[in-house]
Amino acid sequence: MIEVSRFSDKKAAVFGLAGSGLVTARALVAAGAEIVGYDDKAESVAAAAAAGLPTGDLREGDFARFAVLVLSPGVPLTHPVPHWSVKRAQEAGVPIVGDVGLFDEERRARLPGLRLAAITGTNGKSTTTALLGHILATLGEAAQVGGNIGRPVLDLEPVPGVAVVECSSYQIDLAPTLAPDVGALLNLSPDHIDRHGTFANYAAIKERLVAASGIAVIGIDDADSRAVADRLEAAGKIVRRIGTFETADEAARAIGNGVAAVGETLFEIVDGTARDVGTVHGIGSLRGRHNAQNAAAALAMAVALGHTAEAAAGALATFPGLPHRMEEVGREGKVLFVNDSKATNAQSSRQALQSFSHIYWIAGGVPKAGGITDLADLFPRVDRAYLIGQAAADFGATLAGTVEAAQCGTLEAALDAAAADAGASAEGGVVLLSPACASFDQFRSFEHRGDRFRDLVAQRLKRGGDT
Ligand code: ADP
Repeated sequence: MIEVSRFSDKKAAVFGLAGSGLVTARALVAAGAEIVGYDDKAESVAAAAAAGLPTGDLREGDFARFAVLVLSPGVPLTHPVPHWSVKRAQEAGVPIVGDVGLFDEERRARLPGLRLAAITGTNGKSTTTALLGHILATLGEAAQVGGNIGRPVLDLEPVPGVAVVECSSYQIDLAPTLAPDVGALLNLSPDHIDRHGTFANYAAIKERLVAASGIAVIGIDDADSRAVADRLEAAGKIVRRIGTFETADEAARAIGNGVAAVGETLFEIVDGTARDVGTVHGIGSLRGRHNAQNAAAALAMAVALGHTAEAAAGALATFPGLPHRMEEVGREGKVLFVNDSKATNAQSSRQALQSFSHIYWIAGGVPKAGGITDLADLFPRVDRAYLIGQAAADFGATLAGTVEAAQCGTLEAALDAAAADAGASAEGGVVLLSPACASFDQFRSFEHRGDRFRDLVAQRLKRGGDT
């Protein structure tokens, strides 16, 4: 754990006691801060108290007694409206910070040997974070992975090495002094507008991470991120561009300095000259153009941290991938089973549909606005669809006339039908769970849905296929 010494002998209010909040509270207490922890959920307060952490009702008393309000990233700072604890802190002139901000202040003050590689973007954060952690560990670095990906940053060990930290827009918003050694902005598209008011505000928050980084790695596949790269370079920052291209020449011109994926081949580009450094070909955990972008980003960051692009690329082949993101969970003859339960919207399912052909597609759940209408260009890749959950009827209507679709109701029925059809086909194919929907109608979470799919596939393979 990283003790937060800045507030030793001071009083700190901690709002939000689920997940990372508890670790944050402990990190403050360990350094001698006098904290008062609170949460809108009584059971979270009770759990913190039971764990020995001081709690109290932050709605009461003079808020100015606190030196800081430490806020969980899930709590609204600005939109739709600031949380009441935020308003109380602001009225009392108390600064507000989150765990990533505390971590970075502490790291720079007390742990100079612990470098920070921070990753943000709308999509691909977790994959790139895990991949960079894997590359660095393979190359012999003491790399620790944390942040939004799961392990709270203050739970990391205070030892020299590299902290590879996934940062959500909420976490950056709560880290006004964040200054990574290397930062990456992968891409930008509208997301979380409810929490940031406008796309411009959301994008500006993400830009802050790279603007404050020693070396800024920026994806230039979308115009908004490209504009960030141009802006920072014009301001004299060290910028390394990454992106996906059709030809090496085009890549060299657009990137200047950085890493490009041309199809499945990775090129390091130095002063406009491209050099082939490796490939993602045949790496199951890095299928698809989106993962080529993630691989390019991880390579550029590894280079920024002092490694060669060739050495970093050499570690790609052993990347195990992350669960629920195009995760191969089994094979039965010519049929591959893929768990892409993390695809909770059409844009995410697009990445998976693009990555395979002869797809036996299991989709449905709680749909997002627009459903799967935007995916029509990819329907020819789908041999048959198996629809589940609330969205089934609507998705069936969207597919009608293009893709044969079966109304299956449940994941169990969908898997059985899809596996039977794929198995009976001459060329085989991919049974792909990529729901393009949230899971809450039938599951607790996308993880629950993906775990269930993995279990069902395992049971099926153990039985030896159809019974
Ligand atoms: P995040 O942590 O940003 O949510 P993940 O790495 O968990 O991203 O990937 C989530 C989903 O987003 C993947 O299943 C895939 O569909 C999509 N995705 C991943 N990387 C990218 C990328 N670079 N560009 C666009 N979409 C991506």
